[in-house]
Amino acid sequence: MSPAIEAFVRWVDGGRDFAQIRVAASGGGHELRHVADAGLAPAELREVGLEGLRGVARHAANGAFRPLKGAPNLAGGWRFRAATADDLELALGHLYPGGLADWFAVEQGMARPTAFRDFAARQTGIYAAVGKLDDATVGDVVRAGCDGRYCLKRRLWAAAGLAEDGVDKGALPCLEPCAVLLEFARRASRLAVEPQRQIALADGEMGSVMTALEIAASMPAPAAVREGDLSDPANPRRFQLLLGKLRRQLAPVASPDAR
Ligand code: SF4
Repeated sequence: MSPAIEAFVRWVDGGRDFAQIRVAASGGGHELRHVADAGLAPAELREVGLEGLRGVARHAANGAFRPLKGAPNLAGGWRFRAATADDLELALGHLYPGGLADWFAVEQGMARPTAFRDFAARQTGIYAAVGKLDDATVGDVVRAGCDGRYCLKRRLWAAAGLAEDGVDKGALPCLEPCAVLLEFARRASRLAVEPQRQIALADGEMGSVMTALEIAASMPAPAAVREGDLSDPANPRRFQLLLGKLRRQLAPVASPDAR
């Protein structure tokens, strides 16, 4: 048994939620199921093996591919019985790759999160541009991309003066920007260099635009929108990113007399 899974089993004790799964001690081993299925009888759930869990992790309930394993769109309706700690470790590896190791590093006080700027500085090729984003845009990207509506991982790395996520975000840590966030940052860098339009709107009209964006950002993406396709203007992260930009532009600028 690895030290990480040994510590995890101790932490779980009788039962715990880990992102979207409920892990419960059961019959000398553990049972895993979706947190939303916590109150269901075992017979109401489809029993899956390790290979089945791989499929659960790969596709959302609507069949869409899940590029971001921390996304809150894990399908329910299944249960997995881990007879041994090794089975439990393999199951966690399928559902949240790397999650156990990162959790253990945090538990041990050994986690070394990579700040956004350090991560961006290592990028080459088409991703080198993310290193040139200004702090305000980095803040918008991280607030939008790592929002709990899109990812359940608890961000522990620093970005543009943003505080790390609190413990209320859950037990699954994020120790460095992921590929989806990197692509989102690249998309933001491309938007930043596109020609910018000047549009005249009355305050009331702008209020309607902001409200519409807030509603759109809070709703599930249309089925046709692929989660990882950040070039799609209908991706809800794009709405959230735009909201951040508009809020910054609309924020009252303090006059020299007021300082
Ligand atoms: S970088 Fe953000 S979106 Fe990606 S896994 Fe971490 S918290 Fe989630």
